[in-house]
Amino acid sequence: MKEVTCNKCGKVHFTMTLKEVEKEIKSFGLMYEKLSAEQKLKYYGNKPVTMETYTHCYFCGNAHSNFRPSLEQDAPIGVTICGILDNE
Ligand SMILES: [Zn+2]
Repeated sequence: MKEVTCNKCGKVHFTMTLKEVEKEIKSFGLMYEKLSAEQKLKYYGNKPVTMETYTHCYFCGNAHSNFRPSLEQDAPIGVTICGILDNE
């Protein structure tokens, strides 16, 4: 795992392997299925997690091919960062 920064909005993400992403999508799907229609809308905007989620910036939708390795100052200590499929 390494950290990468979105070239569009500057948000830091941690990289995940394809295997890790597939596992996350599957486990999210199992949890999502059990939610009521109201919960799906309220918590996830009716959008289940898909491969698209992990190939684009969580914040601005920029493609994961347009990221760079993170610099130490890119993310303040303690900030929550999201996962993204490793582009290499
Ligand atoms: Zn972004």
